[in-house]
Amino acid sequence: MLIDAGYSTDRKRILRQLEGRSVTAHALTHAHPDHNGSSHAVCEALRLPLWCGERDVPAVEGARPEPGRGRLARLLARMPLPAAHPVGRRLSEGDEVAGFEVLDVPGHSPGHVAYWRESDRTLICGDVLFNLSLPTLRPGLREPYASFTADPALNRDSARRLPGLRPDLILFGHGPPLRDGAGFVRFVESLPR
Ligand SMILES: [Zn+2]
Repeated sequence: MLIDAGYSTDRKRILRQLEGRSVTAHALTHAHPDHNGSSHAVCEALRLPLWCGERDVPAVEGARPEPGRGRLARLLARMPLPAAHPVGRRLSEGDEVAGFEVLDVPGHSPGHVAYWRESDRTLICGDVLFNLSLPTLRPGLREPYASFTADPALNRDSARRLPGLRPDLILFGHGPPLRDGAGFVRFVESLPR
């Protein structure tokens, strides 16, 4: 399973990294150009079906996303979109994907999903939270930038679901993997109500 596929410029690197591996499907956390940028090219090259959260299907299939708030979001809305690709499976809460359970965690995008595997307490949380500060490029937990988030309040509600899972390993769209599950829980619980 390939989860997310970077920017359109990441195509060659992703295909190189997948060489010699058996991949049967490509799933997304959400439809933003830094996550499904190379999805069409990779699915075509490896003949993979593309799966994503049901409310992000229109964006993956080529509809222009609802603009978020702010100047950056308006800029993003004018940028070229990733190549469209038909979605083979619409994911919703509780679905199983390669041994992971789908969590419906909307907000950063309307159909953002996370992937949870209880057997080793691994959480692929996508962009519900970042483990990176973009100005400094240093690791550190933070909420996603509001300018790039469709509904920040809804995203915060989604983030509040995650500590209850008690994850041991958290994997982000931005920033290094985190093995400090207790720190993750503390961070989410410190978010303002
Ligand atoms: Zn992202």
